[in-house]
Amino acid sequence: APLTIAIDGPSGSGKSTVARRVAERLGIGYLDTGAMYRAVTWFCLDTGVDLDDEEAVVAATERLPLDLGTDPGAPTVLVGGRDVSREIRTTEVSTAVSRVATKQRVRPVLQRLQREEMARIAVDTGGVVAEGRDITTVVAPDARVRILLTASEEARLRRRSTELHGSADAAAVEATRDQVVRRDRDDATVSQFAEAAEGVTLVDTSDLTLEGSVEAVLDVVAA
Ligand code: C5P
Repeated sequence: APLTIAIDGPSGSGKSTVARRVAERLGIGYLDTGAMYRAVTWFCLDTGVDLDDEEAVVAATERLPLDLGTDPGAPTVLVGGRDVSREIRTTEVSTAVSRVATKQRVRPVLQRLQREEMARIAVDTGGVVAEGRDITTVVAPDARVRILLTASEEARLRRRSTELHGSADAAAVEATRDQVVRRDRDDATVSQFAEAAEGVTLVDTSDLTLEGSVEAVLDVVAA
């Protein structure tokens, strides 16, 4: 049977980088479900869909011509054939994405697509590492390996700050704090990270390097 691995965690837990490295090490495909919520958000902003209009956002999600490249070495996101890998990471999209992700009629549309993508990638590459907020609990509760990556708030802020500003000095961390704290709060209704769900292994990366986190996840996979 294909090796299916589900990894959840908050922003700044190192989830995306760790998930990609683990997929590379195991030679299997990678699915970034956050990129799918971001792609819908970018598409709505780009085409003038009102983010307060749930029905319109659901319709946009259903017709989104999304094409995901699942090579963990170079994941890409195409919408209508256009590579939007960078556009979906802007502050504008990061600020708006929770408004899409908290819509109760949008989530099942993307969750179904995520299950289909996971199955397709698993068949194509012999396995898949899928990462997000609800993969271990809702999208793939039957995954062979389920992991919740956590990190202290200070560790998460340092990492996000380095990603966004190329530095984790005091000023950069303060500039990041607002965005991270706000998105955590906005996302609170879609994800609860206080403790791992039953059968999910908790990996705390606060005091681990990136390579250490990758090894810790690979240890869980091998166990
Ligand atoms: O992982 P990333 O930070 O790119 O995710 C962007 C946003 O997408 C999250 O802040 C959250 O609102 C949403 N998301 C979600 N469920 C997932 C993955 C992401 O609601 N499985």
